Amino acid sequence: MHNLTIATIEWARLEGWRPRSAGCNARLGSHGRKVRAPIARITTTNGASGFGWAWLTARQARRYLGVQISDAFRVTPQALSYVGSDPEVLSPGVDQLSRAIEYPLLDLVAKVASLPVYRLFASSAAVQLPLRIPCYDTSLYIDDLHLSDDGEAANLIAQEAAEGIARGHRAFKIKVGRGALHMPLQAGTRRDIAVIRAVRQATGPTAQLMIDANNGYNLNLTKQVLGATADVGLYWIEEAFHEDPRLYAYLKAWLEKEGLATLIADGEGDASPHLIDWARDGLVDVLQYDIHQPGFTRWRELGPVLDAWGARAAPHNYGDPFGNYALCHLAPTLPNFEAAEWDEATVPGLDTSSYTIREGQAHVPELPGFGLHLDPQAYARAVEENGFVVS
Ligand SMILES: [Mg+2]
Repeated sequence: MHNLTIATIEWARLEGWRPRSAGCNARLGSHGRKVRAPIARITTTNGASGFGWAWLTARQARRYLGVQISDAFRVTPQALSYVGSDPEVLSPGVDQLSRAIEYPLLDLVAKVASLPVYRLFASSAAVQLPLRIPCYDTSLYIDDLHLSDDGEAANLIAQEAAEGIARGHRAFKIKVGRGALHMPLQAGTRRDIAVIRAVRQATGPTAQLMIDANNGYNLNLTKQVLGATADVGLYWIEEAFHEDPRLYAYLKAWLEKEGLATLIADGEGDASPHLIDWARDGLVDVLQYDIHQPGFTRWRELGPVLDAWGARAAPHNYGDPFGNYALCHLAPTLPNFEAAEWDEATVPGLDTSSYTIREGQAHVPELPGFGLHLDPQAYARAVEENGFVVS
């Protein structure tokens, strides 16, 4: 690691497509089929390289030129040489100053060490091979607004869940909150309930089902929907309303009184720093800060803290396919990881075929770095069309 110095940084956005267009959530219009993967590739003076998600300008990238990898990455060379044999070497990861390029750095360091990224951090004893990470299909959007009949709408989303089952998924998150913006309030709420019931029917009794209201409910609507679907066994409710400790305390008390085991999940929208305090106080069960920002290393720092409080980690991931694979490597290094939010997409130039999804789990390859392959020609073309190179 001593002599690895950053010589070149390239950056470009690769474009790809979801298998099916994603419709609305409670507060936004259609999300469409297109996804963008902003990918930076770092090359050192001696030709080592790594790539991964990064959102940065040429000006920011220039600041990293000449930086030694050992300074950017808080694992000493000695430590790196015995990661794998000694599980106690637990650096959180990338230094604060270099977090804008943490994914390409993690990929690079792991490739130099000939290890999958997760093996830089996870105790070998704790990992069973082949590595399998629970994941959930996050594609059940509000896709039914063109239908006037609730039954037909519910069937449509149930059909989408069946497509997810065919792709190997066994856990699903359903967008709800139709009455917040897109439909009259009670009609939208009624349809939310019909959709939840239909998805349960389509996925069978063992599938893990979550709902996400994108802050489109209030406390009373939340109770109405959770009460009407009590027999469905929803695993968590995400962003029921804007995070508010008083309202979460009421909701917690109500869930307890009703005997409902549904967890409270939040942390995506404004990602309020107070959420940490509320996780400590037991008002929020599942924390969902984003996998891109604040990112991998921040999650590594939070993991043990959340674990000590009995809170769970389910990083938010949407709109960038690299996040799916980043989550697979973060997962075995967090004691309290729930499941990877999976936003399936195909990106020409980014080969992800070493990963498969079977029986609700992502099967992670024992390949160096993140185990992904970047097509040199496709990437060079994208760099020329919409990106930059600094060296
Ligand atoms: Mg969400």
